[in-house]
Amino acid sequence: MPTQLNTDIAIIGGGIAGLWLNARLRREGFNTLLLERTQLGGVQSLCSQGIIHGGTKYALQGALTGSSEAIADMPARWRAALDGNGELDLRGVRLLSEAHYLWSPGTVAGNLTSFFASKAMRGRVDGVTGSELPPALQHPKFRGKVYRLAELVFDVPSLMRTLAEQAGNSLLHAPDIQPEVVDGQLQALQVGDYRIHAQKIVLCAGEGTEQLLQHFGQQQPKQQLRPLHMVVVKGEALKPIYAHCLGGGSKPRITITTHPVPNGQWAWYLGGNLAEADGVARDEAAQISFAQNELRTLMPWLDQSALQWRTLRINRAEPAQSGLVRPDNAFLATNNGNLWTAWPTKLALAPDLADRVLTKLDKQGIRPGQHSDHDSLPRPPMGLAPWEHLFA
Ligand code: FAD
Repeated sequence: MPTQLNTDIAIIGGGIAGLWLNARLRREGFNTLLLERTQLGGVQSLCSQGIIHGGTKYALQGALTGSSEAIADMPARWRAALDGNGELDLRGVRLLSEAHYLWSPGTVAGNLTSFFASKAMRGRVDGVTGSELPPALQHPKFRGKVYRLAELVFDVPSLMRTLAEQAGNSLLHAPDIQPEVVDGQLQALQVGDYRIHAQKIVLCAGEGTEQLLQHFGQQQPKQQLRPLHMVVVKGEALKPIYAHCLGGGSKPRITITTHPVPNGQWAWYLGGNLAEADGVARDEAAQISFAQNELRTLMPWLDQSALQWRTLRINRAEPAQSGLVRPDNAFLATNNGNLWTAWPTKLALAPDLADRVLTKLDKQGIRPGQHSDHDSLPRPPMGLAPWEHLFA
């Protein structure tokens, strides 16, 4: 006989979407179970750059889009959580940078002029010079302009560990989830010797969501993947920088974030346009060579001789959109009966996703039930970020 586990909400997937939602629901008094196939911390989440966007990057596309507006509250909400006054207590999380920067290497002034003229940008960006520049740009040969954005950068591994600690006994290692479907409705989940019954099941499985939907007999919602080819470089010569380097187009030429590696050095994690379509088409050697040339052009003073280079292929998983444009908000579909499907679309939007779930639960009259806390269950292990394992 399987062991029956009754809960209010079962969440599938232990990335930022699942862990954040789990912590929020538990704070609201819901009993939860979070089922993770492999490792806590997620796939995309531990590979993310940890930037809590406030929408400025998206405003570069010219007119402000819905994205810029919806995301504008996120830095303040994450800040409150970090200070212990927010919807979650993130005081244990390491903040890597109080600000993200926009860096114009000097050739894209026109683009920036119209950008800064936009009303929504007023008061949200400040120019910096001299000792206020990111340490990596403090060099006599530096030319260009740098603006400070009110956007935080988090150390994602410590974020994930903190959220996992707040999960109590709600975490279950679930390498194989089998659905129990009756009349087209998902009634329960089987995980090894456990049978899980919940009022709602929320899929937060990132790229794994499409396969789970099929496995559960659902055709909708559709998922899209955006492949990326990121570059990770480490070495003593690297000083901290958190910046979008502008290239004249609507997307940053490179987005650089800096992360602590186990030997006390820093690693730069390079994304932005460099990691998108052309970067995806390059093999590892060509991608590294491209990144080396970009840094040689942008930071000719940087001594690259002792740097170690790696690349990482990773997909962003999102709800399907026409033309592969970026979705504007966190996404929640609630039209498959007990089974809800969620993609945050950005790490920064995890609070927005949890709001959507809580609002919908309230609308459907779903309240915390009378469940006792679960006994200790097989717990999934914690995953590592690329800069923590690629150089091992
Ligand atoms: P994931 O983190 O992918 O987690 C999904 C989890 O579901 C995984 O743990 C997986 O093992 C589990 N799972 C899958 N299938 C199953 C199954 N069958 N059973 C049980 N569990 C399952 N956003 C920002 O806001 N700022 C950034 O700076 C940023 N940088 C990024 C950089 C990169 C390179 C990438 C790829 C993304 C970046 N993003 C950023 C986007 C952000 O990382 C994602 O939107 C977010 O992490 C998605 O979280 P998630 O929990 O939905 O998915």
